[in-house]
Amino acid sequence: MSASAARSRAQQQAIEQVETFSSHNYHPLPVVIESGSGAWLTDVDGNRYLDFLSAYSAVNFGHSNPELIAVATAQLSKLAITSRAVYSDTYGPFVEGLAKLCGKDMVLPANTGVEAVESALKLARKWGYEVKGVPEGLANIIVMEGNFHGRTISVISFSNDSDATDSYGPFTPGFVPVPYGDLDAIEAAMDEHTVAILVEPVQGEAGIIVPPDGFLTGIRELCDQHRVLMIADEIQSGLGRTGTTFYCEQAGVVPDLYLLGKALGGGVVPVSAVVGDAEVLETLRPGQHGSTFGGNPLAAAVGLAVVKLLETGEMQARSAELGAYLHQRLAEFIGNGVTEVRGVGLWAGVDIDPALGTGRAICERLLAKGVIAKDTHGQTIRLAPPLVITREELDLAITALAEVLVEARG
Ligand SMILES: *Cc1c(COP(=O)(O)O)cnc(C)c1O
Repeated sequence: MSASAARSRAQQQAIEQVETFSSHNYHPLPVVIESGSGAWLTDVDGNRYLDFLSAYSAVNFGHSNPELIAVATAQLSKLAITSRAVYSDTYGPFVEGLAKLCGKDMVLPANTGVEAVESALKLARKWGYEVKGVPEGLANIIVMEGNFHGRTISVISFSNDSDATDSYGPFTPGFVPVPYGDLDAIEAAMDEHTVAILVEPVQGEAGIIVPPDGFLTGIRELCDQHRVLMIADEIQSGLGRTGTTFYCEQAGVVPDLYLLGKALGGGVVPVSAVVGDAEVLETLRPGQHGSTFGGNPLAAAVGLAVVKLLETGEMQARSAELGAYLHQRLAEFIGNGVTEVRGVGLWAGVDIDPALGTGRAICERLLAKGVIAKDTHGQTIRLAPPLVITREELDLAITALAEVLVEARG
């Protein structure tokens, strides 16, 4: 029986409502989720699914994580929003904790990931003009081809995904794209007006692309030589996903600015941040940048709880250990319906042999077997379960994928 035949009237109605009254800027899997716990999601009919998407890594610590929910509910019943026109008792501990987790001086808070990216671009330009001495209006920022940093006009201005850019011009100037992984191209693109290099330490939306050895350290060296800021967008790769707090750690580099989001909100609320040194963050004076909701008491309480959870190292260790196991098991599929597997930690991009169908078709088959995963760029399916997943749960999903690959071969 196909998943759609099994779908109840309740699910069908909910889906039709969305198709009628919501913009169609997403193509959701045909399932209506009602609740979540740990690595599991439950639909309105009571069917359970293993979540191998984790809301694009916003739910690294599991659905309804008890510690995070306890902090969030306690804070919610006390104080949720003030704006930063006043101080709150949760904001201070949050920024101190997050700055220390990152080994940096200061935090600039925001809500969504793309706001952290935008904030960093503004900071880099301001630092370039006021500290480095680049003539006003001439700053450029080097970006990577295949990047994904969000959806605002300025951020899509340097996307080379036509779905993200078509019909949205005119675009923001000042960005210089180079191929991901190509240090020579970066060096050739740099000039005296370069203020920053913006890089995903692992490219997420592009299909979980881990850069070649020496790439990130090479960027660090170029930045040091030319007095340029290295901005690491760890919004998806950070906070335990790759087996360490930041992927930069594994590459042996410290960027000037970390961009964080997604999992920083603990799967509860949107929380994002730019974390960096005083030389950069202190260029902002009152009124020069801000966000009504950024750093609100609820977000700060949850963000601090996330920092504390990461301080123990347990989540990172789980991701490293179970991730090694996941990659070992996925390697078995290469040549059997899978052409390539990439990734690190509990994060994998699995390229499906086109003879078996699209990534989307494989994800629909996985859904019917109780596993939620999402395709990206046609043939790739991304696997990113919550880091609280167990080895037994991983095995369930791997068995489901094995069955799906056999069935799709026909
Ligand atoms: C998701 C993502 C963003 C954008 O985050 P939003 O919260 O969707 O705005 C930026 N950078 C990277 C690397 C991401 O994965």
